[in-house]
Amino acid sequence: MIELKNLVVLGQGAPNSLRDGRISRCVCAYSKEHGLVRLYPIPKALLRQWDVFDATVEANSQDHRENTWKIFHSKEDWQRIHKWIIKKGEYPKKERTKLIESLAKDNLGDLIKNGKSFGIIEPKITGFELAKQNETTSIQTTIFDLDYQIINQNEFKYKPYVTYECTAECSCKNPVHRQQIVEWGCYEWMRKNPNSEEHCEKVFENLQLTNKDWKKYFLVGNIHKSPKTYIIVGVLRYKNKS
Ligand SMILES: [Zn+2]
Repeated sequence: MIELKNLVVLGQGAPNSLRDGRISRCVCAYSKEHGLVRLYPIPKALLRQWDVFDATVEANSQDHRENTWKIFHSKEDWQRIHKWIIKKGEYPKKERTKLIESLAKDNLGDLIKNGKSFGIIEPKITGFELAKQNETTSIQTTIFDLDYQIINQNEFKYKPYVTYECTAECSCKNPVHRQQIVEWGCYEWMRKNPNSEEHCEKVFENLQLTNKDWKKYFLVGNIHKSPKTYIIVGVLRYKNKS
C-alpha cells in the first residue's frame, strides 16, 4: 500500500454501479508530488471538486494506465472507506485559477503520443452534440443506497459530446476532436429528466460551455479498454474578470 498526500480533486466521473451493487466513481486529483492521478472506486458522496485529501492506495494489476490507483481494501472496507480516504479541507478559492492556468498546457496529440493518462486542454469549442445511445433511460435502485436512483453512464438515453480544437499547438493529424463528456455534474443535470431531449440538451449551457464570459478547460483522461481514446472527465471553469 502507498499513501498519497495532499491530493486536490479536479474532476470526477459520473457514477457507475459495480457488479456487487456498490456505486463507484473515478476521481482525478492533482498533487505537486504526483501530478495528475486517477483513483477509484470512490463512493459517490465522499469528495467534491477542490477537496484536499490523503488516500491510501494499491496498484490494480488489471489497469496499466499511468498514475492509476485503486483505493486500498476498497471492497472489504467499503462501509468504512474513510479509513483510506481522509478529507483535509478545500483548496483555497483564490489559488484555483492559478493552478488551472499552470496545468492547462496540454494538447491531445502529445497526450496520445506520450501515453499520458490525463491532460488539461484549453479548448476552442466548435460544436455540441447530444447523441442518442438508448431508446429510453433505464433507472435502477441499489441495495446500498435506497434513496438514490442510479443511472449508469451507458444507460442514459443521451450522451453529450463536444467538438473542439486545442488552443496549444496540437500534434494530431486531424486537429478537430470529438469527445464525450462524462463529468458527474453533467450526468446529474440529465438525471433530473433523463428522457427529455429538450432538458438534456441544456447540459452544455449548464456547464457554462456556451457562455463567452467563462474561461473553460477540459480535463481529459484515457479509457481503460482503449488507452488512446480520451474522454472529458472534468470541466474546469471560472468567470472572466471584467
Ligand atoms: Zn488537439
